[in-house]
Amino acid sequence: MQTLTSFESMQAWANATHREGLRIGFVPTMGFLHAGHVSLMERLRPEVDRLVVSIYVNPLQFGPDEDLERYPRDPEGDAAKCDGAGVDVLFMPPDLYPDGFVTSVAVDRLTDGMCGATRPGHFDGVTTVVARLFNLVRADVACFGEKDFQQLAVIRRMVRDLAMPVEIVGGPLVRDPDGLAMSSRNKYLTETDRERGLSLHRALFAMRDAATAGEKRAEALLAIGRDTLTVDKLHYLELVDAESLQRIERVERPARALVAAFLGKTRLIDNVGIV
Ligand code: AMP
Repeated sequence: MQTLTSFESMQAWANATHREGLRIGFVPTMGFLHAGHVSLMERLRPEVDRLVVSIYVNPLQFGPDEDLERYPRDPEGDAAKCDGAGVDVLFMPPDLYPDGFVTSVAVDRLTDGMCGATRPGHFDGVTTVVARLFNLVRADVACFGEKDFQQLAVIRRMVRDLAMPVEIVGGPLVRDPDGLAMSSRNKYLTETDRERGLSLHRALFAMRDAATAGEKRAEALLAIGRDTLTVDKLHYLELVDAESLQRIERVERPARALVAAFLGKTRLIDNVGIV
């Protein structure tokens, strides 16, 4: 595995690899890698000639009161995990943007609700960095986790709307044995916050089980979820169409239940499919 730390060297490698006709797979991350990230690498590894992972904590996607400064980092552990997953290139630039950078990429509508509403500017930061990374890495295929379900939908739409020459693959959400969705931010949780944080997936699974048992009314399902949550501050609990991400009144097509909430100072998200 080689490690590249400048965007110039990343682009030079990608151009040369592309000229050879090799298929490049890409997993963008913010590091502090866990089994959820590794699952995305393993998903792509068999179908590409070269696998690139980026680690970059992108300031554009953090709000002024968010955790940019204290976002957890572990460059050596991350490199070992990437090496173990068969990664060819680990791209870890200290800076990603050229001097005088003033461009942004924005996806409307899909970003109106949920994390878009509760984290203003977040998705513009995500789509801008992902567009730049796609161009630097010349990815033929990129994998994103369903852990960030809205983000995956937003990126699919950006790629379609702007005819970006990259295929987007979604990877299933990976959980710890106790059910908590794996996240780099779980490191912040105290033992009691983590225990109460388990109510996120319990609420979502309770909604899913009720829907499977025949309850199709969104309000009733949301009430079941809300009753299960033990969090400090609920950012949202939503039941939406799995494709359009629009709120629904009844479950008639594949739907998704999504939640975001604070435990102490830590914001966690989770989601499950509801059929
Ligand atoms: P992050 O480092 O949090 O920006 O995440 C990088 C990529 O890993 C994104 O595509 C996430 O959706 C994905 N990811 C993060 N946590 C998980 C998880 N628990 N299961 C599956 N994918 C995940």
